[in-house]
Amino acid sequence: MSPLPPQRFLNYVAGRERSAAEWLDSVDPATGRPWARIPSGTAADIDDAVRAATAAQPDWGRLAPADRAGPVRAWAAAIAEYGDDLAAIESRDNGRVLRETRGADLPRAVAQVRYHAELADKTLGDTIPATSTALTYTTYEPFGVVGVILPYNAPLSMFFSKVSAALAAGNAVVVKPAEQAACSVLAATRLFEKIDLPPGLVNVVAGPGPVAGEALAGHDGVDLLHFTGSTATGRRITQLSCGNLKKLSLELGGKSPNIVFSDADLDAAAIGVATGIYTGGAGQSCLAGSRILVEAGIFDEFVVRLRDRAAELVVGDPLELATDMGPISFRTQYDKVRSFLNPEVTLFGGRTAEQLFADGSPLRDGYFVEPTLLSAAAGRALTEEIFGPVAVAIPFADEVDAVRIANDTRYGLVAGVWTESLRRAHRMSVALRAGTVWVNTYRRMQWQVPFGGHRESGNGPANGAEALREWQNLKSVWMETGG
Ligand code: NAD
Repeated sequence: MSPLPPQRFLNYVAGRERSAAEWLDSVDPATGRPWARIPSGTAADIDDAVRAATAAQPDWGRLAPADRAGPVRAWAAAIAEYGDDLAAIESRDNGRVLRETRGADLPRAVAQVRYHAELADKTLGDTIPATSTALTYTTYEPFGVVGVILPYNAPLSMFFSKVSAALAAGNAVVVKPAEQAACSVLAATRLFEKIDLPPGLVNVVAGPGPVAGEALAGHDGVDLLHFTGSTATGRRITQLSCGNLKKLSLELGGKSPNIVFSDADLDAAAIGVATGIYTGGAGQSCLAGSRILVEAGIFDEFVVRLRDRAAELVVGDPLELATDMGPISFRTQYDKVRSFLNPEVTLFGGRTAEQLFADGSPLRDGYFVEPTLLSAAAGRALTEEIFGPVAVAIPFADEVDAVRIANDTRYGLVAGVWTESLRRAHRMSVALRAGTVWVNTYRRMQWQVPFGGHRESGNGPANGAEALREWQNLKSVWMETGG
């Protein structure tokens, strides 16, 4: 045990750090030991944050959009300069490997924050030739105060992405990070001291979902609520938001199909399918290709290829750069993932921390699950989002069968298709019910490309050249020019 008391991270309200009466432990999932404490934020903290945002927003919203771009651009520069430490905090806090947090998420966040800064003065309205006696046009205006509720799996990159878009669009923000992984976001508020951002424009209040999250979702002073998390919590958020009928933006769960046809480049497919489920937060990704559909004629061969790929992945300490897969982020989720493991339906994998690490290793007390593949007899694993490195493999007969199985879900976030047939690739991209379809690739995302879920995966889209519109209200103006 470390002789030092666990480090404390503080909430950030009205431009100041704020202490708390109650604290929550944040546990290092690689060792199972508490390593930091975060505030157990209350409804009163949320109320103060909404007040601060309400006071700060009008001046910010009245700025010329190009003038809002300056501080957002400066924020991108500060993230580039100081982000390495924040990435390490996230890797310690939620087990997402440093190679992802520092190597991939951080440079992408910097580029996305810059992109949002540049979009500030490029969200254009239309002039509409409706009649000959009026000039009719549309403009986009900030909502005012927006609430942002974050999940635990990639908090920093989502914080940077959502808050930069909200600010560039002219809003003030109150953020509620997940209680299992709030440290990196709370630490990131220090960067606001490096840039000239008015106090109250961004506030961060950590605390339990049922307390701080509910207070934010139900707050009448919040005009838009952006929620990223599970579909179940998305339903609760929808109920809570009805007091003032605030606008909701929802990015929710998935149970995405990754479909391998027998004419695919099977080497490429094995890599794409393995990285689609096993890396990327050890399967704790909304994008996880957790249903692997394989054409029956190549099923056995492909499972062997996938097993060989999975065996190459290094499972271990998330802070080591050689590690491909870290732990599950917290105990309850670890227990949930383990509840799906069943030797009778396991095609490969299935071991957990005690079987993976030698006696005496601190990682034995961590929340590790090795890359695992279950058969189509795996029951509820076929339909429920597991959110861990556990996929199911399902054989299919032909293209029609593949589409039927792939679309047999209430989710609709993403889908992957592996085929060398151009015609089939086009047919599949039309037939699959998902917000994003990848052909001969998987888990590709970039800020210029719209992203959002269909059906019970959400009501996006985020990203893309229209990214700021999600954070703005549309107004139509009729200017009479006749008598
Ligand atoms: P979660 O729904 O348990 O929690 C998300 C956030 O909601 C947390 O901040 C939590 O404190 C808060 N919350 C919990 N209960 C609440 C309540 N009653 N009222 C208000 N807030 C509440 O999700 P999670 O376990 O943190 O994240 C995993 C989920 O997020 C998965 O389903 C994953 O697919 C989804 N996700 C989706 C996307 C996307 O872009 N579609 C991205 C990342 C994660």
